[in-house]
Amino acid sequence: MLQDFRVRQRDFILEITRAITAQLELSEVLRRVLNASVVMLGGQLGLIALRDPSETYRIRATLGIDSEHAGELGDQLNTLLADESLDYDSFTEQLTRMAIGLDRRMRQSFALPLVFAEQPLGLLIVFRAQRALATADDIQILQSFADQAAIAVHNAQLYARIDEERQQLAAIVEHSADGVMILDPDLHIVNFNRALERMTGWRPEDAIGSSYDDVITWKKLNQGDLRRALDDGWPNKAGDPAHETLYVEGDLMRRDGLTKSVGIIFAPLFSADGRLARIIANVRDITNFRQAQEMQNVFISGISHELKTPVALIKGHAATLRRDDVEWDKEIVREYSAVIEEESDRLTALIENLLTASRIQAQEGINIDAGDLRLDQLAARVVERFNTQTSGHKLVLDFPPNFPVIQGDETRLRQVLDNLISNAIKYSPNGGEITIGGYATAASATVYVKDQGVGMSDADQERIFERFYRVDGALSRKTQGTGLGLYLAKAIVEAHGGRIWVESAPGQGATFFFTLPL
Ligand code: ADP
Repeated sequence: MLQDFRVRQRDFILEITRAITAQLELSEVLRRVLNASVVMLGGQLGLIALRDPSETYRIRATLGIDSEHAGELGDQLNTLLADESLDYDSFTEQLTRMAIGLDRRMRQSFALPLVFAEQPLGLLIVFRAQRALATADDIQILQSFADQAAIAVHNAQLYARIDEERQQLAAIVEHSADGVMILDPDLHIVNFNRALERMTGWRPEDAIGSSYDDVITWKKLNQGDLRRALDDGWPNKAGDPAHETLYVEGDLMRRDGLTKSVGIIFAPLFSADGRLARIIANVRDITNFRQAQEMQNVFISGISHELKTPVALIKGHAATLRRDDVEWDKEIVREYSAVIEEESDRLTALIENLLTASRIQAQEGINIDAGDLRLDQLAARVVERFNTQTSGHKLVLDFPPNFPVIQGDETRLRQVLDNLISNAIKYSPNGGEITIGGYATAASATVYVKDQGVGMSDADQERIFERFYRVDGALSRKTQGTGLGLYLAKAIVEAHGGRIWVESAPGQGATFFFTLPL
């Protein structure tokens, strides 16, 4: 009869340990371990406390104990555990005393340490209403059960940690601003994030499972090639670190037919036995970078041209004047000196523009040295100077007689007028009238420069105030320019607390306005 009971008890333990170890969710593992232990010991109440990294024990599962009492019990338990003078018997005696506080019937306690790889994971405690001596066999069976339970708890904890890390990684991939794609060794897509959807126009649902070559189609490859690299033996696990990742760059054909410049870094992931398991691709949208590069190139060629022209004119005129073999008459000397002076002015203005732009770029801002300023008189002086430089255009001033005095920086605002008027001339290749006028209200003074030139589209109106931006057209390609003039004009006007804008239509001329507060 006793023998029979023992066999049943073993079977029970076996069954329960199987059920426990098959489960990976921590709270469920704890619940099963606790239930089984309480049943096995014929107890009524029980709890499992797990040791956290700060070595405090926290109650993670209870049976027959409500959560209100559990907190209190947890504190008492930690106090008991901290007392190193207690042996097992006095420890369980104290536990029983605690249990009586919960339920007066309690008579006996069992405390089983859960230990894995010599690391204490926690404590399993069972309280029961009858007192009986546990045999050595009982204890052994219980301990082996506790060891099984410890393995299950350890696995569940590991699993919980891995799951947390997996979720973290998934969130990082999902919300990364860069496109992330994971490929299997046959180049089938197994993961495809939202950023990549925005770049390629492929929805993750459609991309996942497809072949890499079907989704990533190149209109133009500038550098690298995944297929070619794989044929050439990439990735080589033992190879030199420089070849660990592969960089591919080019213009991608989006699903909707548009193109996008991207750079992709491929990184191999090897399995434990050294085989290629996955390829992780990090895709970066480099369209803006490419555009900026292009703009920079255009700017540099534009600027060198702009610098070279006046220098060539100055050098040519100076060299002519310097000739020893000719006696120049006064008129020629005056005319040539005027050209040298004008071209020097142009160079100075250009250099001034460049310096201001680099200062704005370095976020140092523009210094405004404000004083009383008559914009109508300033405009008249600028117009006078331009009149000597153009014959194809008629420059007209149109300011009311009582145009107000404003507070402004004369040098800077002259730069604005210079830029607006020189643009009006440049972008009116067929000549025509250019009006520089103004009007005022009680709160502000407005100046405008109106031409009859090529004008521009609405889309370009939005962009011409950007740094380096030049309208892409036959005329801009022919005319010198750096795309800085309007960018600076805007910065200067805004530094005065004002506003600048344009009204125009293609072929209809353009009128630039700027308003300064009074
Ligand atoms: P830049 O004249 O050196 O190219 P700006 O910043 O002064 O640079 O002007 C930017 C662009 O705006 C020019 O390239 C031109 O295409 C356009 N633009 C400026 N002013 C006019 C104008 N008055 N009429 C038509 N287009 C203009």
